[in-house]
Amino acid sequence: MQRITDIQEMQRTADRLRIEGKRIGFVPTMGFLHAGHLDLLRVCREQCDIVVLSVFVNPAQFGKGEDFGRYPRDPDRDEALAASAGCDIVFIPNSEDIYPPDASTRVEVEGLSELWEGRFRPTHFRGVTTVVSLLFHIVKPHCAVFGQKDIQQAVIIRRMVRDLHFDIEIIVAPTRRENDGLAMSSRNTYLAGSGRSDAAVLSRALRLAEQAIAGGERNTAMILAIMHDELAGSPDIKLDYAAVFDAETLEEIIVIDKAPVVIAIAARIGNTRLIDNTIVKGETIES
Ligand code: AMP
Repeated sequence: MQRITDIQEMQRTADRLRIEGKRIGFVPTMGFLHAGHLDLLRVCREQCDIVVLSVFVNPAQFGKGEDFGRYPRDPDRDEALAASAGCDIVFIPNSEDIYPPDASTRVEVEGLSELWEGRFRPTHFRGVTTVVSLLFHIVKPHCAVFGQKDIQQAVIIRRMVRDLHFDIEIIVAPTRRENDGLAMSSRNTYLAGSGRSDAAVLSRALRLAEQAIAGGERNTAMILAIMHDELAGSPDIKLDYAAVFDAETLEEIIVIDKAPVVIAIAARIGNTRLIDNTIVKGETIES
């Protein structure tokens, strides 16, 4: 596996691979890899000849007072894990190269970026879409894999790719979970003791919501009430939102009458912010 830090070297490498007719797959991450990231690399491997992983803790997607400074970092461990999952190139750029001091261009998907997560993190998605655009121009992939765990991010990236005519296929891969259902996240390392066991309530609430829908419930107020009841059993969990929304427009749904819909949840345990979601597909709703 090759490690590249220089932007131009990454671009020339991508040019050469494209001339050789190779299909380039790309998995952008902020590093501190876990099994969920490795799943994305494997999905990418199945679809592409060359798998590129980027590791970049993107300052632009952290708001003031968020965890940019303490976000976990371990590039050597990331490199070893990526190699074990069949990655060909790990791209680890410097922040000063990605954002020269006088850089003044931003990419923003209006509307979608202001909903749900955007209400709590107003500049977050602009940071994400800006860096993903930049990385697409550097890595020049044919396809890119994102995780369902960050479903709003995936929806916004798809919209950006469509609107800006990026010739890149976007694949969304399922969420990898711990044994108790907690969605894997680099931020889970912040959780200690009771916070860690409390965190499983997010996925339990989502499962209960799914079961209610499978049992015939279509009124989202009832579904959200079931989720709130479950969360009330863990008083240290501070809910930001629980919501049911359309999987493409992200618009809130009051009565479920079509699929797919997303059930999403965001909550804080102490200083740790966690998000999770499940997608309810047509089979569940028609049954
Ligand atoms: P991050 O490093 O947290 O920015 O995530 C990089 C990519 O990995 C994003 O596309 C995430 O959606 C995805 N990802 C994060 N956690 C998981 C997970 N538990 N399962 C699958 N993909 C994930």
